[in-house]
Amino acid sequence: MVKCYYCNREAVYSRPYEKKPLCLAHFNKSFINRVKRTISKFKMLQPHDKVAIGLSGGKDSVVLLHVLSKLMRNFPRSKLIAVTIDEGIRGYREESLEIAIRHAEELGVEHNIFSFEEFFGQGLDDLLVTLENKQGDRKGACAYCGILRRRALNEAALRVGANKLATAHNLDDEAQTVLMNMLRGDLGRFGRNDYEPVFKHEKFVPRIKPFMLTPEPEIVLYAVFNGLQYQEMPCPHAVEADRGVIRDMLQMYLERNPGALFNLVRMGAELSELLKQQERKERPLKECKICGNPTAGEICKVCAVLYEAGELDFKTKIDT
Ligand code: SF4
Ligand code: ZN
Repeated sequence: MVKCYYCNREAVYSRPYEKKPLCLAHFNKSFINRVKRTISKFKMLQPHDKVAIGLSGGKDSVVLLHVLSKLMRNFPRSKLIAVTIDEGIRGYREESLEIAIRHAEELGVEHNIFSFEEFFGQGLDDLLVTLENKQGDRKGACAYCGILRRRALNEAALRVGANKLATAHNLDDEAQTVLMNMLRGDLGRFGRNDYEPVFKHEKFVPRIKPFMLTPEPEIVLYAVFNGLQYQEMPCPHAVEADRGVIRDMLQMYLERNPGALFNLVRMGAELSELLKQQERKERPLKECKICGNPTAGEICKVCAVLYEAGELDFKTKIDT
């Protein structure tokens, strides 16, 4: 039997980048401590915060809901509100909605459900058909879904009166994003990624990512070890994502250098800080000419997608 590094109990997991076997109790403890350290390192939470958490029903958001509802007790008069976005993906969202509802109820967390249809006039599946019919071709589903879901989560957070939006992006997601931005040669993007929540615009709710330094496999283990149910079925559109290729590439490299994800994310954060110091001087934030949301260009990506799809009455839907 392999013993825990910290006590005499049997180890249940050994982190490949640390080589310290951990028993169940010490795994849980170090999992929570890492999230605490991430929150304090990037000044993610303050007393009086009203935090909306994007709760999809997948492993990351379910575990984040449980961990944040525990940790936020240390922040006096703070409040956690779960928001779920129904993108309109048939045969997939129904199960995760049920799971999300159950977890929020169990923890006594207020829960609000919003949909793409409500915000943008169409659900994702319908929008993809519209785009195909109009253009005879379209990008991968995630390219549209990612843009619209970001906005939908922001809109949901505004509607519930939150001053912060917590998303469950984990270390693997963050490292993949850093690498993807590099492979696309998109340096400007680093400057737009905030690690500390900053108020930029009244229509933009600052984001926090308490799991940004937590590896994905540990989130799965936390869910399993603590009996937290989550949706295991992948989204039917997931195969269309570029991310899968990047994930596989990183996975291969991790076998040689298990700490590489931490290095990538740390470099992304440092680069972001450097670029932001410049940008603050050189490039003030613009507002989208159509919907007024903050954007890097003249028209935001959401309006560009909706314009492509011929959703002409979206302005009223977003603004009301
Ligand atoms: Fe949206 Fe793609 Fe995620 Fe499916 S896999 S929910 S389409 S981003
Ligand atoms: Zn816009």
